[in-house]
Parts: sequence; structure tokens; C-alpha cells
Amino acid sequence: MKAQRSAKVTIAGNGRIKLHCPGDAPYSAKQKAFDAFYRQHLNEFLQHNLPKWCQALNVDLPEIRIQRMRTKWGSCNPKTGRIMINLELAKKPLRCVEYIIAHELAHLRVRHHSSEFIALLDSVLPDWRHHKDILNSLPLAYDEWTY
Ligand SMILES: [Zn+2]
Repeated sequence: MKAQRSAKVTIAGNGRIKLHCPGDAPYSAKQKAFDAFYRQHLNEFLQHNLPKWCQALNVDLPEIRIQRMRTKWGSCNPKTGRIMINLELAKKPLRCVEYIIAHELAHLRVRHHSSEFIALLDSVLPDWRHHKDILNSLPLAYDEWTY
């Protein structure tokens, strides 16, 4: 039975998440299960929170992609209107995720980190520097988990 053999991550309800898998499941199957879990939860959070930030920044709802990124939390392509969000944000404080949403959406209006950009961010999220500092103090990713 394939379904029983595949790995799955669930919320245990005691502040923990639980990995269900056969004892001999390969590392890649476990990692895939964690990725799917984090992706689903991050996607739900983004879908829920994007509209209010789009409204605050007066931009259209963009196309959002969740991706594994090695060097940054998010990116924005103003030409295509597409925003990439780092999958690792699923493990970070929610206010920090909102900061990245606001930051990338602000790029739809101002391309570079100019004084205009800073002023725009200040107007919608006055304490963004605090969230940025928290993110910068956290590791981007743990690449060498052992299960
Ligand atoms: Zn930026």
C-alpha cells in the first residue's frame, strides 16, 4: 500500500509537528513531506494576508510563487508582477513573513531601496526594521537536519 508507506507531516496539537513514516523511509521522502507541509501552511498564510497588504500598498494582487531560495527571503520582478517567497519563511515568525510580503509588494511600486521605497514601507509597516532585524538574526536555512 503506497499511501501507508509515504511520509506525512501533521500538527500534533501540543506545539509540535509530527512526522509519520515507515522506519526505513529514505531521507528524501522525509524532507519532501516537510517541504509539502511547510509549503501548504505558508501558502495558506500568504493567501489570507496578501489582500490586505495589496490594499495598503495600492497594488494589484500579484502572482506568488513559493520557492527554496539560498540567499534571500523574497524577490520581486516588477516587469512580470511576480513575487517569489522563500519556503524557509514558513518556519519564521508570522510578523516577519508579513514584513517580507509588504517589502516585495512595495517593489511593485518602487523598484530600488531608495528613500521613496523606505518611506512607502514606513507608511504601511512602521516597525518593519524590527522584523528585518529578527529575520537577519535567524539562519536562512538548516541544510543538514538529521531525523
Ligand atoms: Zn527589496
